[in-house]
Amino acid sequence: MKAIINTDIVMEDHIIWDGVILYDKDRIIAADSSDLVSVPEGAKLIDAKGKYTAPGFVDIHNHGTDGMFNFEYPEEVSEYFLKRGTTTMLACIFYTVGLDGYLKGIETVKSHMGKGYSRIIPGFYMEGPYMNSKYGADSKNNKWNHPITESEYKQLVDEAGDLAKVWCVAPEREGIEEFCAYAKSVNPNVIFSAGHSEAKPHMLYNLKKYGLKSQTHHMNATGVVNPLCPGNDCGIRDCGPDEAVLYDDDIYAELIADSMGIHVKPHNIRMVSKIKGVDRIILITDSYPIGFPPPKGPFERATDLGFDSEGGLCGSKMTMDMACRNMIQHTGCGLSQIFKYASLNPAKLLGIDNEIGSIEAGKKANMITIDDKINVDKVIFEGESVV
Ligand SMILES: [Zn+2]
Repeated sequence: MKAIINTDIVMEDHIIWDGVILYDKDRIIAADSSDLVSVPEGAKLIDAKGKYTAPGFVDIHNHGTDGMFNFEYPEEVSEYFLKRGTTTMLACIFYTVGLDGYLKGIETVKSHMGKGYSRIIPGFYMEGPYMNSKYGADSKNNKWNHPITESEYKQLVDEAGDLAKVWCVAPEREGIEEFCAYAKSVNPNVIFSAGHSEAKPHMLYNLKKYGLKSQTHHMNATGVVNPLCPGNDCGIRDCGPDEAVLYDDDIYAELIADSMGIHVKPHNIRMVSKIKGVDRIILITDSYPIGFPPPKGPFERATDLGFDSEGGLCGSKMTMDMACRNMIQHTGCGLSQIFKYASLNPAKLLGIDNEIGSIEAGKKANMITIDDKINVDKVIFEGESVV
């Protein structure tokens, strides 16, 4: 038995001042005020030194770090993020690789899952292949602009099986409905996330019956096309994926909250917080392993982002604590709320909130200690201290 003492506990919707968390092996036994929890004799004490204890981060959208894609180096990438507080991470495979690359990536990650640091990976986040290359997906060189064919997607879906937790799709792609129906027949719990897309609301909603529940990086890599004025210069506001997701109370919005509000403007982050509310926002890092430092100019201070050789955006360099810190900076939200965004809501999306996502008796002992600016001190994964 182990006990975290001298800590304030970040619960799902409140804080416990001066709390104690008891855990045994990989499970939380009790979490409550210190005068209500008796620590058994002989229990190993972990002194949080007055810091908060919160659930470990759940990052569903992460490509890797420091030159290493997580579908090539899952163990190294998992170690990096686990030591910074991410106790659950989906491994992204991105449209930048072709069919062989997807198949190889699936095989590599599968061979590591359940072992070592890669135990933080429960499955894949497939960012593509069937997205709209006009929106942040290299329209000139995108390997997936050809028509969607059954023989191709069957290989992909069959190989990933029920480990493909999320598929990011552009609902406007011809043939996407057949793809979604097949993916759902292979994995009934599959989740679709609209992204890199200019879909109209009805196109997104049409995929809800297959499991569309989320939007990939809300307000980023999306577009609207107004048939009345293709250049969008007629002064009539049209609507696309962002408006569809803001309107629908069921659909989760992933947010990249960078420090300068470059992916999503601070005003829009605040607007999304107000409209989607505490239960439908999911913070992601969208961490990308390659990219240059910020170019000279207005984005010079954006050291939490990656840039391509022409100064365009190329994912982030964030860890989840940074994403949380930025979200608090932009919205002023509280600790319980930030851990809904960064742990409980993504766990709910994946349907694993009975196991992870909050500090609660019976759930996995995946916990971090933090200061009030979310700087991570200790990391406990499945009951073992990692840092
Ligand atoms: Zn993306």
